[in-house]
Amino acid sequence: MKASKMLAPTLREVPADAEISSHKLMLRAGMMRKVASGVYTYLPLAWRSIKKIENIIREEMDNKGGQELLMPAVQPAEIWQESGRWGVYGAELWRVKDRNGRDFCLGPTHEELISVTFRNDVRSYKQLPQMLYQIQTKYRDERRPRFGLMRSREFIMKDLYSFDADEAGLSVSYDMMYDAYSRVFSRCGLDFRPVEADSGAIGGKGSHEFMALAEAGESAILYCDTCDYAATDEIAGRDPLPVAAEEMLAIEKVDTPNCASVEEVAAFLNVPTNRIVKTMYYKADEELVVVLIRGDRTINEIKLQGLLGCNELMLADNADIEQGGSKVGYLGPIGIEGVKIYADAEVPLMYNVIVGANDGERHLLNVNYQRGDFKIDQVADLRYLEEGEQCPHCHGHLKMARGIEVGQIFKLHTKYSESLHVYYTGEDGVERPVVMGCYGIGVGRTLAAVIEQSHDDDGIIWPMAVAPYQVVVIPVNDREEELVQAAGKVYDELTAAGIEVVLDDRGERAGVKFKDADLIGYPVRVTVGAKSLARGNVEVKIRKTGEMLEVPVAEIAGWISDYVKAEMAAK
Ligand SMILES: [Zn+2]
Repeated sequence: MKASKMLAPTLREVPADAEISSHKLMLRAGMMRKVASGVYTYLPLAWRSIKKIENIIREEMDNKGGQELLMPAVQPAEIWQESGRWGVYGAELWRVKDRNGRDFCLGPTHEELISVTFRNDVRSYKQLPQMLYQIQTKYRDERRPRFGLMRSREFIMKDLYSFDADEAGLSVSYDMMYDAYSRVFSRCGLDFRPVEADSGAIGGKGSHEFMALAEAGESAILYCDTCDYAATDEIAGRDPLPVAAEEMLAIEKVDTPNCASVEEVAAFLNVPTNRIVKTMYYKADEELVVVLIRGDRTINEIKLQGLLGCNELMLADNADIEQGGSKVGYLGPIGIEGVKIYADAEVPLMYNVIVGANDGERHLLNVNYQRGDFKIDQVADLRYLEEGEQCPHCHGHLKMARGIEVGQIFKLHTKYSESLHVYYTGEDGVERPVVMGCYGIGVGRTLAAVIEQSHDDDGIIWPMAVAPYQVVVIPVNDREEELVQAAGKVYDELTAAGIEVVLDDRGERAGVKFKDADLIGYPVRVTVGAKSLARGNVEVKIRKTGEMLEVPVAEIAGWISDYVKAEMAAK
């Protein structure tokens, strides 16, 4: 490829609306352009990298027996109504009508369509198991698209669906995909972790997210410093640690003026915040509920919502709570009537705790659940684990990191096969629902995650396997015929050797070409300059290390072929 004819419009300025490195760099390196909010054109450089990621995915899916197909982005409403998701998916489902007023959506996912496809043509246990996948454009009408390809409204995904006769078969398919995903992300050069995850709106029990570790990540993960435990902060949990017994003291009511927060109460009474129990009122759909939690802990509303099984969960309005002498900031569990009380698992184990008195600006000391001072309707794990806590599986301690979710695998069990009637006939002649799994990889997100993990102040540092091109050849001066000819010869030789190479023939100053080479992030730069050429050499710069060396012109094609091969083999 000749740079003079390549559509790779680099920018010197950082675009104003780009917040994270991958978004900034993809715009600056001339890889993509915004068309509308959350909708992008992938310019040739990005598209080359995307195709490489797609091919890695294809190879790994095919290796596990996956069959590629392609379903439409446009899906009729009827199949979503049949699964029950048309009504519950919300505003993110991009709904459209055709000229006859018939409802469709632009698919955010394809469980419905693949189920319908499968049920019409597969009948017998003899046809199972199967794995079907596609790499396709998906739509999600995000309220706030941002971070470039991280949270866009139109995006490319690989989605695979497994169909098995029973749970044991599903476990085999799931484990195969776990392995395939690990291979895909390793080959893309990502530093990632598979973590236990919430299965969210897709449903079903059993899920892992594959997290690329990066500061810009939207997800928080907790992982053990000793064993391989890792989970998203949404689901990470552990049994409460045992508490040393204390003598239960008599309850005492004390004035705590202007102490509406846990920190203020703790400072005023000169106690640590973990001696306090917070009393929080929530509105779960229309029902008022109370949640009790240790003062230094944070309520995990995802766990709470899961426990309550409600559609909507929010903190209650002050007007709903402040009745009688109760005042927000001074609420407690004693004397609550007609409202269900849920407590995090640590609360019933605590001795001599401090709670609000429900009586003006006062608190109660030495309250003990174990003595029957207050009641709890249900105890559950309702909090976030925190960095430094003991691991749920071993004696190690938890560390926290941020991650970009690049893939997720789910066991769907029979959720969709039952609602959409995907049944097969067993060897015994009995009809049973097919047991399904679904497995997604965000292709654009993977690309963005690679850039988040691998860049510096000058630009992108591509891992060889997903670099748009492997090498750039730069003649230092386009007016010196000898250099131009030598560079052209190196370019021809590399091309003939099967290397993906760009010849920067743009007639720009060398400095501009070097800057663009670093920004675009070619793994190898070959510079053809008068001084080294006089010695029969060209200069090679390795982007990821900054290392510079001279290689004889006669050996350059062989040298680069070897380097590219070694880099492709490296993890
Ligand atoms: Zn551990």
